[in-house]
Amino acid sequence: MLSDPNVQEILMDITDDEKHSFPIIECILKGKTNDLEIAEETEIKLNTVRKVLYKLYDAGIATYKKSNDPETHKFIYSWKFDQDKVNDIIIEKYDKFSEEIDKSIEYEEENMFFACNSNHRYKFEEATENNFTCPKCGDSLEFQDNSAIITELLRKKDERMPLKRSTGK
Ligand SMILES: [Zn+2]
Repeated sequence: MLSDPNVQEILMDITDDEKHSFPIIECILKGKTNDLEIAEETEIKLNTVRKVLYKLYDAGIATYKKSNDPETHKFIYSWKFDQDKVNDIIIEKYDKFSEEIDKSIEYEEENMFFACNSNHRYKFEEATENNFTCPKCGDSLEFQDNSAIITELLRKKDERMPLKRSTGK
């Protein structure tokens, strides 16, 4: 799951520390769940391990159980990484993103655009108001075919589509 760029992006957003968060999560997924064990296995400082874990906890994608070590009578924390919650966040993010893209596509489709050589862009109404002269640089404004922009927006939308989406709710 850590190879999924969507997951990586979310972990980056949450922990701001990919160097440490990836191996820590990998470790939990492999079944080493205790913070002391994780620190030992990953050779990351215990403090850093805890910091990353609490950031994940704060974001709602990791939980822990506290128990008492019968020998040392110290608390043991076992951590769990909530993959479903991560998928929920991915889908939520994608939905928001695709909504924005759809709005942009609609805007491109509903309008005609005119642009100068420096690519200052105007809608038809603005271009007429300015007699097809760019108010920024004085160049003439020419009709701009925006089909490539629409194709690019569609491509972006498709590219970001979460792989696990179809198996979700
Ligand atoms: Zn211009």
